[in-house]
Amino acid sequence: MVDWRMVRPDAVTVWRDKRVVKRLGWYYSVMKGEKPAKFLIARTLEVPQLRRGELHSVEEERLWRIHEKLEKAFMEEWFKVKESDRVNVEKYRKDRVEVSFLDLKRELAWRLASPCRLCERRCMVNRYERIGACRLDIKTYVHSAFLHLGEEAPLVPSGTIFYGGCNFTCVYCQNYDISQVYPRAGKAVSEVELAYIQDVLASKGARNINHVGGDPTPNIHTIVGSLNYVESNIPQLWNSNMYLTLEAMKIIVHLIDIWLPDLKYGNNRCAFRLSAVPRYWEVVTRNLKIAAEHGDMIIRHLVLPNHLECCTKPVLRFIAEELPKDRVLVNIMDQYRPMHLVARNPRRWKDIARRPSYREIHEARKTATRLGIVWEPVS
Ligand code: SF4
Repeated sequence: MVDWRMVRPDAVTVWRDKRVVKRLGWYYSVMKGEKPAKFLIARTLEVPQLRRGELHSVEEERLWRIHEKLEKAFMEEWFKVKESDRVNVEKYRKDRVEVSFLDLKRELAWRLASPCRLCERRCMVNRYERIGACRLDIKTYVHSAFLHLGEEAPLVPSGTIFYGGCNFTCVYCQNYDISQVYPRAGKAVSEVELAYIQDVLASKGARNINHVGGDPTPNIHTIVGSLNYVESNIPQLWNSNMYLTLEAMKIIVHLIDIWLPDLKYGNNRCAFRLSAVPRYWEVVTRNLKIAAEHGDMIIRHLVLPNHLECCTKPVLRFIAEELPKDRVLVNIMDQYRPMHLVARNPRRWKDIARRPSYREIHEARKTATRLGIVWEPVS
């Protein structure tokens, strides 16, 4: 097997950059095995009021009230772990309680999945009987899982799991086969099977578990459930369009160590025209602000041709002005090319029927630099 260090030497050298270490400090300490991943902390935090087997019969409103109380306890514990010089990681990996914060989250996640309120499309469909706008039923379909060497340097090799289905319908989607055309053609996996996939990736040297698709959001119930069975201490990475509901965000913020969100559009008009998604800006910027408070972050911005003024610049201004710049890295991506519907009908999607020009990419990066955004180590 080829040594990934030969293929991506920057995955080693990137950690010499103090700006990266400062911004990805939590992820780095979990990756090195010095701290427990957040899901392990959630697994050891006890729900005092409930016994195993009782969760099913408690009404949802009460579960959320208990969740709210435990959020505070979790954050205190997490901050304590973050600040501490020496942490007994094995204790977090092995200790179990009767009903944990993670069990509570699992129960809530399955309830959110049907009638479905996992993303802001809020289809409210019974996914045991029907499919939602993401083209999925209640099952989680894994299309592939492997060590990805093409991600941002601090993430390589990334234990990437590609789920079928997506709540967006991007006309230029690069993964349109699994997200839009054959989303349910992958292998349907249980929570235990998904945990096994994660452990295998960890044993092969993955630096993280990269939940992607399509989009991972419609699969939150299985992903959260799987974390009860994962044996490895490995950072959880959320690679998503971030169109989750606030309820779904509340479930995952205490489980994700590093966020890899897309922020593509700078306004709702472009988002609706190119991805058929309403209220994009309000939803995604809201969720990015929440995520930035709960873990490290590399934001991906795909530069679309002819969308510098309407998308790229407002996106960069938002990052600079409304997110903690000293905690966020930005990947300004130049790899857009016409795919899927745009490739088939370039006249209809004239504005994005070509690659972005050198001048557009240069302008995007110059704007980011002017705004004080750190992008060079991950772009
Ligand atoms: S995850 Fe799918 S079914 Fe659920 S609300 Fe979103 S699009 Fe609808």
